[in-house]
Amino acid sequence: MRIHRVETKFKNRPHARQPIRDALQTLTGGGEVTLELIADDGLVGRSTTSFGRIDGAPKTLATLIETELAPLLIGRDPFLNGMILEDLKRETEYQGTFGLATFGLSAVDVALWDLVGKATGVPCHRLWGAYRDRLPAYAMVGWLNYDLDTLRRKCAEAVKFGFKGVKIKLGAPTLDEDLKRVEAVRKEVGRDVALMTDANQALHLAEALRRGAALAEWDVAWFEEPIPAHDLDGYIELTARLAVPVATGENLYGRAAFANFLAKRACRFIQPDLRRAGGPTEIRAVAALASGFGVPYASHGGGPEALSLLMCAPTAAWLESGIPSGPNARPVLEHGMALAPTGPGFGW
Ligand SMILES: [Mg+2]
Repeated sequence: MRIHRVETKFKNRPHARQPIRDALQTLTGGGEVTLELIADDGLVGRSTTSFGRIDGAPKTLATLIETELAPLLIGRDPFLNGMILEDLKRETEYQGTFGLATFGLSAVDVALWDLVGKATGVPCHRLWGAYRDRLPAYAMVGWLNYDLDTLRRKCAEAVKFGFKGVKIKLGAPTLDEDLKRVEAVRKEVGRDVALMTDANQALHLAEALRRGAALAEWDVAWFEEPIPAHDLDGYIELTARLAVPVATGENLYGRAAFANFLAKRACRFIQPDLRRAGGPTEIRAVAALASGFGVPYASHGGGPEALSLLMCAPTAAWLESGIPSGPNARPVLEHGMALAPTGPGFGW
């Protein structure tokens, strides 16, 4: 089987009237890029890359894939995807492989694995050798622009749906405001539901230490990205000094960055993002590193790709999800556990 054609499409989403917000960004809508790798036998491997904001990003990524990556894909054997990805890294190195080019590599890698899965008729997590067929899921529902009533209502809705945990955004202007949010949700969901918190890089180190210490009494499952994502020394200090587990990883690019954080004990949960970490091939390497250092792995974001990778990560702990809606809602939850996808490749 060879790749015969590459098709890229992008679209923008209309801006939300009341956009959701975290401590770093207002997520107005953005858009998405779909990539199709069409094989000479007619099979199609697909990927979709979403942007929560930046209207120009989908068009820019589609152009990058079409003009820089696609020419290296024509005629290639998708079963040799490690070789293909290394070629794409070399090709993009001149301008910088990290950043948007990594989004492109990830999109290609997802589509390659989807194609291989379809060619063999097997879901990707079964191809890779799964450690489990389900795992706990939590719902990210507590946006920073929600008032306390909305926050309580959204978290209650997630628990009612069956999630074993809820995540809320922190990083409000004051510690007092953050604590009011945590207290409101903890009292709403009770002690049996895990409560994750996320400050989206908004704090400086001293303030992160102060707020992290204050979170301890509310039995918080983790304190995510308290400080800027690149600040390795800051994360080492936070992890050593805080009782609440520090989580990070959604803004790290490539396995070497993860190796640094893991080897230096700079977090207690690692959270690769499919687009930024570099796609399934790179994330499987990250998962192996995390298990070597005994660090639990939680996904940043959901979807069949993130869920498939969690099935194969030795130290997988949590799937991140929104509350599914509609007749074909995914993931399927059973007793709070998200069930592995069942379609070939990355099909649900
Ligand atoms: Mg986050």
